[in-house]
Amino acid sequence: MQDHGKKIFLISIGVVVAVIVAFFGYQGYKAKMEEKRHAEIHQSGHSTAVEYLKAGEWGNAMDTLNGLGDDRCDDCETLLTYSYAMMKYKDGKASDGGITTAHNSFEEISEDYCGDLADNVRRDRERVNADYEKMMARQAEAKRQEEAAKAAKKAAEEAERANNVYIGDSEEKVRRLFGTPDHVGRAVVGDTETKQFVYYAPGHDIIIYLQNGKVAGFME
Ligand SMILES: [Zn+2]
Repeated sequence: MQDHGKKIFLISIGVVVAVIVAFFGYQGYKAKMEEKRHAEIHQSGHSTAVEYLKAGEWGNAMDTLNGLGDDRCDDCETLLTYSYAMMKYKDGKASDGGITTAHNSFEEISEDYCGDLADNVRRDRERVNADYEKMMARQAEAKRQEEAAKAAKKAAEEAERANNVYIGDSEEKVRRLFGTPDHVGRAVVGDTETKQFVYYAPGHDIIIYLQNGKVAGFME
């Protein structure tokens, strides 16, 4: 009776151990199959993207790589950046913003990149960078011209101001521009000294009024 109980006990332990081993074995097997499945998804997406990139189908390459999500390898990440850069570049027809974005994306890819399509990446990086340099030079030239135009306008305004008398200008400036007045009238009322500089000119005399040394008005 005792032996019989021991036997049942041992068999029970054996069954439990077998179930546990089977369970973990199955879990391991399941994990391995899952890993294999992801590896296959990656492999397929990766090579499809490479074919798209070789054909210049940037949008399709991007969609494929984005679709891989966490299954992307390091090379996939680089190819994703590459496809984004080229999509923005629009084969050289991009706006300045697009060229800048393409250039910045290439900056994220190492110069030493030697994965799939390393030659294509190098070639396209050179194209984008050349266009970027041209764009920068063009923008610098446009800015230079704009500043030159501004400086010319300011100089013209200053010249105009120097050659004409304005309210608030000094008596010295009036004398410098118009010379010695033909007649000077003077009146003092309270704190205000008013002068009239009269210049005779055939047909139209000019009178400039100054208050306390500053031009206050004129008549012609
Ligand atoms: Zn990959």
